Amino acid sequence: MDHFLKFQIAVDEELKLSDASDSFYAYVGNDKITSLDQLVPPQDMTQLKNSLFALSEGRKGMCCFRIRTAGDVLNWIAANIKKNGENKGIIELDLVDIQSMNEKSTPIQYDAMTELLNKQAITDYAASLTRIYPRKMFYFILLDIDHFKNVNDLFGHMCGDEVIIDVAHIIRDCVGNKGQTGRIGGDEFMVVLDNVDSSFKIREVLAAIRETVEDKYKNFRDEIDVTVSIGAVLYPDDGTSYDELFMLADKMLYRAKMKGRNRYIIYTPEIHGELKEASITNVTTRQVASEDAKIALINGYMNSFLRKAVVPIQTGLENVMRTFELDGVYVFYDNLHESRYGLKRKTKPDGRELIAEETVDMSILSSDDVAKKFDSNNVAILNIFDLKKGSDDAIIKYLEEKEYRFMMIYNMKEAKKAGYVVYTADKESACRLSETDMADLIYFSRMLELTSLER
Ligand code: GH3
Ligand code: MG
Repeated sequence: MDHFLKFQIAVDEELKLSDASDSFYAYVGNDKITSLDQLVPPQDMTQLKNSLFALSEGRKGMCCFRIRTAGDVLNWIAANIKKNGENKGIIELDLVDIQSMNEKSTPIQYDAMTELLNKQAITDYAASLTRIYPRKMFYFILLDIDHFKNVNDLFGHMCGDEVIIDVAHIIRDCVGNKGQTGRIGGDEFMVVLDNVDSSFKIREVLAAIRETVEDKYKNFRDEIDVTVSIGAVLYPDDGTSYDELFMLADKMLYRAKMKGRNRYIIYTPEIHGELKEASITNVTTRQVASEDAKIALINGYMNSFLRKAVVPIQTGLENVMRTFELDGVYVFYDNLHESRYGLKRKTKPDGRELIAEETVDMSILSSDDVAKKFDSNNVAILNIFDLKKGSDDAIIKYLEEKEYRFMMIYNMKEAKKAGYVVYTADKESACRLSETDMADLIYFSRMLELTSLER
């Protein structure tokens, strides 16, 4: 099935539209548009112009940029571009709205705190670049603030937030119009440098980020130094899928941390060896599943459910846990002192991760404090950063003790034996659930609730 929205347009060398279909005007929500200038945000303009003007007669190329569509939403566009040999000066663009593949096109989302792209937006963008042909090189980069917990512990979360915002802006400014920057977790960032060519010196950008952060925080409050560690890989040379790029960059970031932090490591096969195969079988963590994989998983369970096929709960929970990057999943029937099913992500002494069974006591769920948090979907979200000192003290204490950062609790009110499904993320984990993730998990919980009626 091909869900992509596609449009053909033509522009002259001044970017004035010389041809466009009615559907394109409808897509951008304005039939008075005369130039691409009016649709493409300034930060993407340089890349677009460079790509168009680099074309020689009769030659093809490609580029990526955003277009302001109807409703004032910016959508990512991949364009195959061609300079028409006969009609001098005219450039034809085959536009593909990359986001439209998720059927419903979701607006680009920003991280409220830093104003960078949020995790969903930057990961979707990186993943979409790996689906474009002909392939176009880009650098995929992960960054993480060093010993950031010290800042929080010594100066409080407010100060921690300021540091995250400042570091985010340093990264964004150093990246400039060479790519896109997003925040993917507490103190973690992702950069995609795609507006560059093969002569591009990635070291200059990474060195600038490293040095600017180091200089800004030299002797920051009582000798706490704030620095960043960085891991980088090159597409398509080092990996051709999003997962490969992420895992390899994550390994390079880990190496940078192990070697003493405050440094960048760019993957070089001759130095770091062929890590690709090994990492895929070893790493069970922080693998960002695509929206498609998540939807496929939940739809798969829905189908089994409708066919009344038996899906072992344990397998279902484990798959959901892996796909949504959770650290724990628990199901309670009647008794809150002992989970009926429980899975927890654990780290072995050799650093590898596994998912193991675990029985937990969550009597706190029956407290009035938690009861107040349930919404009309029978869902309560407990997030350590959103809870309020004073009124939520008991919950905060519980989360801190258990080292949970986040709990999503679904109350199976209708189940034969009433109970709860609980999804957790640890303090240290990269798990951040988007609204769509939560909707998927509610759907999954609802299936467990209905299935339990038949047991
Ligand atoms: P490392 O050098 O190994 O990265 O050490 P670290 O202390 O930075 O460890 P890590 O990156 O695992 O810790 C990130 C911490 O960031 C954990 C969490 O308490 C904190 N954190 C996560 N989100 C936020 C946030 O939005 N604001 C603040 N202030 N802190 C956050
Ligand atoms: Mg860190």
